[in-house]
Amino acid sequence: MVNNRYKILLVEDEANIRTIIATLLETSDYQVIQADTCIMAKTMFSSYQPDVIVLDLGLPDMDGMHFLEFVRKEQQSLIPIIVLSARAADQDKVEALDAGANDYVTKPFSSAEFLARIRMTLRNYRHSAEEGRLPGGKFHLKDLKIDYDARQVFIGEREIHLSQTEYNIVALLSEHCGKMMTYSSIIKGVWGYSNEGSTKKLQVNMANIRRKFGVKPGENWYITNELGVGYRMNGERE
Ligand code: CA
Repeated sequence: MVNNRYKILLVEDEANIRTIIATLLETSDYQVIQADTCIMAKTMFSSYQPDVIVLDLGLPDMDGMHFLEFVRKEQQSLIPIIVLSARAADQDKVEALDAGANDYVTKPFSSAEFLARIRMTLRNYRHSAEEGRLPGGKFHLKDLKIDYDARQVFIGEREIHLSQTEYNIVALLSEHCGKMMTYSSIIKGVWGYSNEGSTKKLQVNMANIRRKFGVKPGENWYITNELGVGYRMNGERE
């Protein structure tokens, strides 16, 4: 039997939650490998080479952050990791994202949103792993087009005239499309350093970008802001 289904390593210690998520994923045609401790997660990770990891942080033997660091640092793996946690504090999200998590879903969550995050994460990972930037150094997302070589941004046929800094922010977010980027990771990527006023500076630039894109208040656009955490370029409408 040829099995082309994506393998998801689900690390969650609460049996009922694990069963609900596993069923949800299996119904959506993913293959699910389950682990209920950090130790077991490490074994499963090495034996099954999953395509994506869904990771609860509150585990009985060790903190889920330990497994996150094991995958990123010891295994040097870029496999997408979606952190699933009841911890809703901004600092926890920022910490997990800065340690290399691709996304963060806070319990309780809706099935539809959770599945959308998985699809988006898998698609963006495949995109960056196999294709890198699109042929000709271009990025496409719905009406948005970025020409990396010419450093130009278009919405449909209209060119958006951005400053160097604004362009760098948009390009950086597009290169990590679908990933929630923390303020500090964007600041480091764009300015190379951060200081007291950096987040404010980033927000001011983002407001300018939004205005130049012609986005009206309350309107959905390509970039979402999670207050206190960071920005994400949306790979899929949620
Ligand atoms: Ca738990």
